[in-house]
Amino acid sequence: MNEEQLRRHLLMTTRAMQRQGINTGTAGNVSVRCNTGFLITPSGRAYEHSTPSEMVKMQLDGRWEGTLQPSSEWRFHRDIYRHRPEVQAVVHAHPTYCTSLACMRQGIPAFHYMVAIAGGEDIRCADYATFGTQQLSDQALLALEGRNACLLANHGLLCLASSLNRALTLAVEVEQLAKSYCQILQMGNPVLLDREEMQRVLEKFREYDSHRER
Ligand code: 13P
Ligand code: ZN
Repeated sequence: MNEEQLRRHLLMTTRAMQRQGINTGTAGNVSVRCNTGFLITPSGRAYEHSTPSEMVKMQLDGRWEGTLQPSSEWRFHRDIYRHRPEVQAVVHAHPTYCTSLACMRQGIPAFHYMVAIAGGEDIRCADYATFGTQQLSDQALLALEGRNACLLANHGLLCLASSLNRALTLAVEVEQLAKSYCQILQMGNPVLLDREEMQRVLEKFREYDSHRER
């Protein structure tokens, strides 16, 4: 995709995020890698009123160009692109169930085999840090080690993928898992799958993922 197409796709992804119910208002932000760095949503904008030209172009050194300020979370987007060469897109949102667990400072354990969708045997919750800070980025990167998603304490959800569509799909799936887990917690403590079983699931998942419809 050329830059113009990436700008349009980025904006479409933010709107899809609202439609799918994982984000509201000006919360959340999305970015996509481009040849000179990445394109990121502007800060504090309602996406339904944004245009592709308002998407902000940033370099990996933090310099940016455009008429609007980049998302206040540009640091974790930047650091993910720096440290995770396979990642092409990043979605951050404040979906209800992920945020509820994150406010309890709880991640999502292996209560269901689909937890493997995030690349590991659980989905961690990053330690708390103020939004928009380098500390938040550092904590997020730690929680993302070996994973494509994590919760952010008292904040929300962060997902990474090889395309914007996949990052959005992952965010919707993690929110669905968080919803189930929150409901299960009302009944008591679920039986968790053990490490050995999750390793088996992860192995099968690698195979399944190669032909899964997106
Ligand atoms: P921005 O509007 O600056 O992207 O901030 C939204 C947000 O979710 C901060 O964590
Ligand atoms: Zn946020």
